[in-house]
Formats: sequence, structure tokens, C-alpha cells
Amino acid sequence: MKVFRIAILSIVALFIVGITVWIQQGEDRDALYQVSVLRGLMQGDYDGKIALHTIRSHGDFGLGTFDRLDGEAIELDGVFYQVKADGKVKRVDSNVKSPFAMATFFNSDMEFHLDQDSDYVSLQQLIDSRLPTKNIPYAIKIEGKFSYVKVRSVPEQNKPYPFLSEVIKNQSVFEFKDIEGTLIGFRMPDCMQSVNVPGYHMHFLSRDKTKGGHVLGLSLNNAVIKIDDINRFIMELPKSQDFYNLDFSVSADDGLATEKSK
Ligand SMILES: [Zn+2]
Repeated sequence: MKVFRIAILSIVALFIVGITVWIQQGEDRDALYQVSVLRGLMQGDYDGKIALHTIRSHGDFGLGTFDRLDGEAIELDGVFYQVKADGKVKRVDSNVKSPFAMATFFNSDMEFHLDQDSDYVSLQQLIDSRLPTKNIPYAIKIEGKFSYVKVRSVPEQNKPYPFLSEVIKNQSVFEFKDIEGTLIGFRMPDCMQSVNVPGYHMHFLSRDKTKGGHVLGLSLNNAVIKIDDINRFIMELPKSQDFYNLDFSVSADDGLATEKSK
């Protein structure tokens, strides 16, 4: 009888642990995970901090850059792609580290079809008009056929690292016409201004995974837009002397150079 009671108690305990783990995982799937602060990157803190396999454990959808600012990072369906400064796209080893990245598990909370001619600014205005609030972050996935996409990538840097606003003076710009692909992006709220840049930040990856980059401009009229509401934020601040020595009272141009609707 005693054995039976212990068995029942054990099953109940296991059930409670299981439910707790399940709830925690559920919460984490709605969190935005960020490596460092964007202002650290703007001030030239380009050494890789967190390995891609760790970032992937926090999300299957994201963007950022790599150790020494070696190109633009795209994470789509849990796979990391690197757009080098020469425009070539390759898959990346999961031990490579990133100095700045954002990732979440993409779960669409809202979906709608775009069927009007839109440029980057009007696309942002359209999405803005559908959002329940502008005070939380959103992950945004847009799949469609683009009549035009203008992207950039950045070359690998050597120490002493220049500010991002200096690096982008030598950025590579690529333009594509009539191309199918996906926009992997985020919209950050004004209330998170000190840790990121408010507004839209999007990277593009072509459907055949051979072209991509940080989006500077676009034109499209046929796409499916999926939006993931985010209510939790996990920020990984680097344990490095370079980061500890940064002076955030110095202002730095954001270097994102994207067309903004505001
Ligand atoms: Zn970018």
C-alpha cells in the first residue's frame, strides 16, 4: 500500500515538473532574445560574444552579424546564413560567435495578404496600421515576390575597430529585380530605445538562399505578411573587457541607414 502511495505521489510530482517545464518553454517561445545592445555594435564592439548554437536555443528566426562584423546574419527556420561583403551567401558553422543578434521562435499571431504596390516606407506604414500597439516588439516574416530589393553587407573588420557609421561608408550594396524571397525582420518600440533602434530592421534572403543582406529599400505588391507579438525580452550583456570599457554617454550614428516611416 505504501509503495502504491509513493508511486502515485511520484507520478503527480513528475506531472507537475512536466507542466512547469512546458509552461516555461511556452513562455520562452514568445521571448525576444538579444545579444548585447545595438549601441555596442555602433561603437565598434565587433568581437563575437555568443555562439550561434546558443542563439538558436533561444529562437529559430533572427538577424544580426558575426565575429569581426563579417557580413549580415540571417536565421530562418533555425538555419544561419551569412551574407558576406562580396554578396555570397553561405551556411554558417554553429560555433561561430556573434557580437550582436536578435532571435525568437516565430509563431504567427497575425497574418494578412499584401496586394498593393508598396515600397519599404509604405510597407512599414501598412504594418503599423495593423498592429495592436506600438509599445511591444514584433517579429515580422514576409514571403513574396519582390519587384526590387536593395540590400547591403559589410566587410570583416580589424582592430582597432571603427564605429559602424564609418564601416558603412565602405558597405557593399546589391540590387535585385523580380526575385522571390523572405524578409526576416523586427519592429522595435520607442520604449526600448536604449537597447536597440526603434522601428523596422529587416534582412532579406532569396528563396534559393543565394542572395540576401540588410534591407535598404524594396518594392513589392504580392506577399504574405506574418507578425509575431513579443511580450518578453532576454538580453545577454557581454562578459568582455571591450564591452565593459564602452562609454554609452557618447552618441553614435545608428549606421542602419534604412528608410524609415517615421
Ligand atoms: Zn541589419
